[in-house]
Amino acid sequence: MASTVAYPVQSTAATGPPPGVAQGEFPPGKKKKEKPAKDGGQSSLELHPPPEYFDHRIKIFEEAKAEYDLFVKNQPRQEIQVTLPDGSIRKGLSWETSPMDVAKDVSKSLSERIVIAKVNGALWDLERPLEGSCKLELLDFENHEGKRVFWHSSAHVLGEAAERHFGCHLCIGPPTDDGFFYEMGMGLTDRNILESDLPALETVSKSAIKDRQKFERLVLPKETLLEMFRYNKYKVHIIQSKIPDGTSTTVYRCGPMVDLCVGPHVPHTGRIKAFSVLKSSASYFLGDQSNDSLQRVYGISFPDAKQLTEYKAFLAEAARRDHRKIGKDQELFFFHELSPGSGFFLPHGTRIYNALMELMRSEYRKRNYQEVISPNMFNSKLWETSGHWQNYKDDMFLLDVEKEKFGLKPMNCPGHCLIFDSRDRSYKELPIRMAEFGVLHRNEASGALTGLTRVRRFVQDDTHIFCTPQQIGEEIAGLFDFLEKIYGIFGFEFQLELSTRPDKFLGEIETWNVAEKQLSEALEKFHPGKWELNEGDGAFYGPKIDIKIRDALRRSFQCATIQLDFQLPVKFNLKYRSAEDHDAVDRPPNRPVIIHRAILGSLERFIGIVTEHFAGKWPFWMSPRQVLLIPVAAPYKDYASEIADRLAALGLWADVDNGENTLPKKIRNGEIAQYNFIFVVGQDELDSRSVNVRNRDDVGTKARSEVVPLDVVERQLVALKESRTLNNRLV
Ligand SMILES: [Zn+2]
Ligand SMILES: [Zn+2]
Repeated sequence: MASTVAYPVQSTAATGPPPGVAQGEFPPGKKKKEKPAKDGGQSSLELHPPPEYFDHRIKIFEEAKAEYDLFVKNQPRQEIQVTLPDGSIRKGLSWETSPMDVAKDVSKSLSERIVIAKVNGALWDLERPLEGSCKLELLDFENHEGKRVFWHSSAHVLGEAAERHFGCHLCIGPPTDDGFFYEMGMGLTDRNILESDLPALETVSKSAIKDRQKFERLVLPKETLLEMFRYNKYKVHIIQSKIPDGTSTTVYRCGPMVDLCVGPHVPHTGRIKAFSVLKSSASYFLGDQSNDSLQRVYGISFPDAKQLTEYKAFLAEAARRDHRKIGKDQELFFFHELSPGSGFFLPHGTRIYNALMELMRSEYRKRNYQEVISPNMFNSKLWETSGHWQNYKDDMFLLDVEKEKFGLKPMNCPGHCLIFDSRDRSYKELPIRMAEFGVLHRNEASGALTGLTRVRRFVQDDTHIFCTPQQIGEEIAGLFDFLEKIYGIFGFEFQLELSTRPDKFLGEIETWNVAEKQLSEALEKFHPGKWELNEGDGAFYGPKIDIKIRDALRRSFQCATIQLDFQLPVKFNLKYRSAEDHDAVDRPPNRPVIIHRAILGSLERFIGIVTEHFAGKWPFWMSPRQVLLIPVAAPYKDYASEIADRLAALGLWADVDNGENTLPKKIRNGEIAQYNFIFVVGQDELDSRSVNVRNRDDVGTKARSEVVPLDVVERQLVALKESRTLNNRLV
């Protein structure tokens, strides 16, 4: 074909993910399928002959590349100045010197370590010639953007392997927070990618890495791209929908693979020193169930083999701690297809659930919170007032009740506004801290539901603080204290981010300024220098503080939010009498500010997080199995049962194993069930009214346990529960 490439051409459109629905068809003659895998041997690794589109793409690429190389060759070479972040300046030649040349000039180790360049603030391929004087940054894998480029480049390798192995039609292949995936249509075979396919993909990927394939960049006009990718309806759709007519965008080649991509990438595939294909899953084109079913393959890669070993150890540990597994092993909760996304909490899981609510309630009493109970379903008129009907209806469960539309509440706030508005309010009552463990429902797609982390039915430790604008600072300070108390109990570190007024905001700018000032002052006072500012990232109705916790595996989760809201009080016409209102009837209403706040967030999700954080070894205060009593022989069963009853009367969870197993077997079972303490009783203990204590977390005393008088151990257990400490120790 005739390539009509005009240079220089900038990338004029981004090929961002994910694209729309493809309308095209697989052109005739492109019905490449994977060969039936026979023995997993060399013959089944790659298609013979390779997919026809390989040659087709490469031919177009090479023609355009020759033209481009000529263009670059004809550009004037002029001396340019390259300024590095430390202010030092290196000299180079325009259209000749690349960031990699500069890096090599600085040091060989730097040139080997870096992943990508940034030229005047924009990411730039390391071997792409600089076009003029510029500022240059060189980023390595440890840099967030560097990591994304590295994983994005790795996705190309995985895509290439999938094409070589399956002859599939690639869709999109982005980096993620922990690796990358490539999404593909399997064409006429329309088959699922199985776990048994993954080793072959990894082998082909590794051979592409061994080939040190260069990533070559080229800018092509839309019509050339349509021709190049005519065999692939997904790419055609991306080109049609994302690239305006008459513009161009970039493609990259590595090995036989040419892909539509804005880049940039690592210089060559050999930079990837460790590569692993992790799993596959099904998805839909554009995430829409009415579109083609696609297959996603996930991978991870590193510039150092050691990092992959560490990562695999991390994955194994995460799998060991998976809350779905522990929930099953410890009989805490389960799910049923007859109510997807709604957990069934079994008796022991409910103990944990209640322990969390009791924790929050005990703090509510100390902190002057008032708990309320509001309805679960409301007439759509409420949702129209709150704005949920206009903006959130699709995420709600709706019901027809006596010819009226109702909706299950996805949030408690509108109901709380009705409570606030149920009578006149005076400034003397404010702040009102209205708490509710209300049952919420959100209509998550069934495909998105996962364990306790993504559910349809949940309860939050939700509170709405109604206060005057002047009280914001003090309320926020109180919330920081509350956060610290609660997260401290679980041993979570946390980070804070303040998001401020966006360009499109509602309300008075002065209200925003006063609020933001109080928020940043409170942050600076309580966490000096330890919070981040996301300027302009707040919601249109108020600024917010996001709180992220880190668990035992150093994973980040957002549970708590502190969201200010100036709009909901306006929508519900909430007002209070101020001190000056006494005789002035015609004054405009005083609007309270609402602070939406949750600390644990969804209790369901929080239980999922702490299950994994503690790996099922519950701290005593929230443990569903606190003490197991084991009599050494039948004559001591009564004594064991008597102790269990006494502990139950003290509000502790104690069980007796009066079964037929041997003593060592009973002890072993108690350990597996993660009882915090196992009390063994025999003749000595009966005679002295004592117990023999084995501590779950104290390996040293497991072999030689400690005999403690019964009344002492009772006191110690109650004190341990009340202290809510992480230390499983009787003192
Ligand atoms: Zn790319
Ligand atoms: Zn709320």
